[in-house]
Amino acid sequence: MIDLRLGRMSPAEAARLRAFDREHVWHPYAPLPGAVEPELVVAASGVRLTLADGAELIDGMSSWWAAIHGYRVPELDAAVTRQLGKNAHVMFGGLTHPAAIGLAERLVSLTPEPLTKVFFADSGSVAVEVAIKMALQYWRARGRPERHRLLTVRGGYHGDTFGDMAVCDPVNGMHHLFSDVLARHVFAPPPPLGYDAEPDAAYIAELARLAAEHADELAGIIVEPVVQGAGGMRFYAPEYLRALRDLADEHGIPLILDEIATGFGRTGELWGADHAEVAADIMCVGKALTGGYMTMAATLCTDEVASVISGGEGGALMHGPTFMANPLAAAVASASIDLLLSRDWRDEVDRIEASLTAGLAGAEDLPGVADVRVLGAIGVVETREPVDVATVQGVAMDHGVWLRPFGRLIYTMPPYVCTDDDLDHITEALYAAASAL
Ligand SMILES: *Cc1c(COP(=O)(O)O)cnc(C)c1O
Repeated sequence: MIDLRLGRMSPAEAARLRAFDREHVWHPYAPLPGAVEPELVVAASGVRLTLADGAELIDGMSSWWAAIHGYRVPELDAAVTRQLGKNAHVMFGGLTHPAAIGLAERLVSLTPEPLTKVFFADSGSVAVEVAIKMALQYWRARGRPERHRLLTVRGGYHGDTFGDMAVCDPVNGMHHLFSDVLARHVFAPPPPLGYDAEPDAAYIAELARLAAEHADELAGIIVEPVVQGAGGMRFYAPEYLRALRDLADEHGIPLILDEIATGFGRTGELWGADHAEVAADIMCVGKALTGGYMTMAATLCTDEVASVISGGEGGALMHGPTFMANPLAAAVASASIDLLLSRDWRDEVDRIEASLTAGLAGAEDLPGVADVRVLGAIGVVETREPVDVATVQGVAMDHGVWLRPFGRLIYTMPPYVCTDDDLDHITEALYAAASAL
């Protein structure tokens, strides 16, 4: 039983739940039974997670980029409750509803002008699957089925389903495990590091060479704009994105931008693509779409992509999840967007950027640290050797902060509503974790 007044659980009950979890419940990218016992969260409010023993942790991860407004947000709670009073769900085949239409209106008006058509997916991975399927169906509809490969860059992450894995970084994405079943796409080297770095003409020439060499078989280009997330937390110069836009135009292929991590202001612009002032032909959003309340994502495309697909064989886009456009998720997504736009999110993200920059200053001189970088509300400490996840988590928790490192990356993307004091705690925790290497 959770004691709601204290947000606390009896130690015996907590131990029982954790023991069952460890034996029976898969966690992300984990063995089973688990190697490290997960922390038991019994509640969350504002930017703080409450653990079973009553301890509170500032969530430095925004639940993986999603909880940009924090937890138990009155406006978002109210949106879910209002929609619950109508209907939690209804199928989307043959039916539609105000929650979905309202969200689609917002997405069309908020994304770059050419993006006018919205497909609702139930997770980011599915949104990318749909984007890939759109590109493939586009060429099938145009009578060019041999155009079935995608051009991408190394260091990317686009989700965990098989279509997505095939465009993830081949090493981080463990392509060797699935090499016999993954589609073979065209990989350019990773974009040179550094948002502010002088663009490397040789790299742009290499992108052009690859696009030209494979022009007859390319269905599209897919990348994360400006920030590569789970593939390595790398930032790259907007010029490379502009170069990819130009190549897509030159070869008449759709540019797919995966904004699932970068969207909704995280990088300091509303969309990652805004840094380069380009628009995608197909664009994926997810993660922060619902403010972290529910699983939902969307794939937007241009009139042209939609009309070619709809005029092709079968006359339809061949995708339709059971929980497509779930009303609860759609209602809370609209409320999250309205809340974001009602505040000065740009100022909030700038403030976080300044705070992370100041708080991590000097960390690059620590012996175990290879690089420190900050862009928008994203702070990254790259270490020389892979970190021990449990050790880093333990140090961060001693500082009252939740961090979840991977590989050689200790990083944070805090909720936009963090106070300066919260941010100080987060950077102190990051610094302490990096010092403890
Ligand atoms: C997280 C992520 C995905 C996958 O989204 P899920 O909701 O986890 O399926 C795809 N692309 C990018 C860029 C992401 O960060």
